[in-house]
Amino acid sequence: AFKLQKNKSIYLFTPKRSLMKHNINHILNKKVMDRYMRLPFPCNKVLATYIWIDGSGINMRCKDRILTCVPYAPDAAPTWAFDGSSTGQATTDNSDTKLQPAAIYRDPFRTEPHVLVLCDVYIGDGGQPASTNHRKYCNDLCEFHKEQEPWFGLEQEYTMLDVDGWGLGWPKGGGFPAVKYQYSYCGVGAKYIAGRDVSESHARACLYAGLDFEGTNAEVMYGCWEWQIGTSVGIKAPDDLWMSRYIMSRVGEDYGVDITYHPKPFGTLHPGVGMHHNFSTKRMRSDGGYKFIEECIKKLEKNHMKHMKVYGNDEATNRMRLSGKFETAPFEKFSWGIANRKASIRLPRNIKEKGKGFIEDRRPGGDCDPYLVCGLIMETCLGGPGT
Ligand code: ADP
Ligand code: MN
Ligand code: MN
Ligand code: MN
Ligand code: MN
Repeated sequence: AFKLQKNKSIYLFTPKRSLMKHNINHILNKKVMDRYMRLPFPCNKVLATYIWIDGSGINMRCKDRILTCVPYAPDAAPTWAFDGSSTGQATTDNSDTKLQPAAIYRDPFRTEPHVLVLCDVYIGDGGQPASTNHRKYCNDLCEFHKEQEPWFGLEQEYTMLDVDGWGLGWPKGGGFPAVKYQYSYCGVGAKYIAGRDVSESHARACLYAGLDFEGTNAEVMYGCWEWQIGTSVGIKAPDDLWMSRYIMSRVGEDYGVDITYHPKPFGTLHPGVGMHHNFSTKRMRSDGGYKFIEECIKKLEKNHMKHMKVYGNDEATNRMRLSGKFETAPFEKFSWGIANRKASIRLPRNIKEKGKGFIEDRRPGGDCDPYLVCGLIMETCLGGPGT
C-alpha cells in the first residue's frame, strides 16, 4: 500500500529530469496491430472498459472485461472489484475495492458495440465511498434539487506536454516559447498554437462516446487548450467531464502527448489552467431570477474559503494560480462582477437587462474534481439534504 502524491507541478522539471525519451505507445507499429483488429469478432461478446478515479483524486485507472451483452444502462453492467492497494485506495491486507458502474458510454476507440463504463469506488464490498469518490455526494445533491433542474457548463483547460515533460512545441533545453501570449488564445498559425490534432481527435471521440461535448479553443499559453462540457442537467456534467478526461488520456497515448491539468504548470510567470464552472437553476433562468442570483452570490461569498479548500487537487497550487494576474482574482478574496474576468464570480454581460441567467465560478483549478465543485455550489446556493 502507498499514498499517491498530489498533482505535481512540472515547471520544476527540466528536460534533464525527463520522464522518458520516447513514448513507446505511438511508435508501436499500427499496421501489425491491424492484423489482429481485422479478426472477426465473436458476435456474442462485448468489450467493456471499467474506468475510475484513483487515490490521487486526479489520475484515472481502467481495466477491461468481456461481457456477453451490451449494458445500455449502468445497472445492467455487473459490479466489479480491483486491488485498491495498487491505486492508493486501500491497504494491502484489505485490498479488494468495489467498482460500481455509474454511467455507460460508447467506446470511441473500439467503436460499437463496445462500451466505456464510468464507475465510482466503494471501500471493501460496498457501503462507504472511497476517499476520492465524491460522485455520491454530488449525485445526492442533484437528486435532492431535481425540481430546480441544476444546469452546469464546465470549461476544462489543460496543457499538452511532450513525453520529456516539457511543454508541447516548447524549445528543448528548458527554454520558453519566443512568442508572447497575446496571440495564442483562440489562436491560429503554427507559431501561436501547438497540438490542434490532439484537440480535434479528442472532440470527435467525445462526441462519438455520447458526451455533452460543447466546444474547444486554444488557450493563452502555447500548448494549452480548453474544451467545454455542457450545458448539462445535473450529474451528467461532472460524469461527462471525467469521461472526457479519460478519453483525452487515451488520445494522448496515441499521439505520445502527456496531458496535465496542473493549475500553474510553468510557474508564476506563465498563465494558469482552470476549470470555470457555469451554473444555473430553473429559478435563476426564470423572470426575476437575477434577485435570486444575488442571494446566491452572498452565500458563495460567505463560504469562500470553504470552497477554496477543495477547488483544486491541492490547495497550494490553485493558490499559485489565483494570483490576481492572468485574468484571476486573488485566492483569499471573494469578488464578483458583470463581464469581469478578474472576479471570482462573473455574470454574463446581459444579465441585468434580461433579469435572469447563470453564474460563472472562475475559482476552480484545472485539476479540481467537478463532483466536489458542482456539489458544493449546489449545497451553498440551494442547501442540502442535511440543512
Ligand atoms: P467563456 O470562455 O467566455 O467563459 P465558454 O463558451 O467557454 O465561455 O463557456 C461558457 C459556458 O457556459 C458553457 O460551458 C455553457 O454550457 C455554460 N452555460 C451557458 N448558459 C448556461 C446556463 N444557463 N446555465 C449553466 N451554464 C450555462
Ligand atoms: Mn492480478
Ligand atoms: Mn471558456
Ligand atoms: Mn479558458
Ligand atoms: Mn469561462
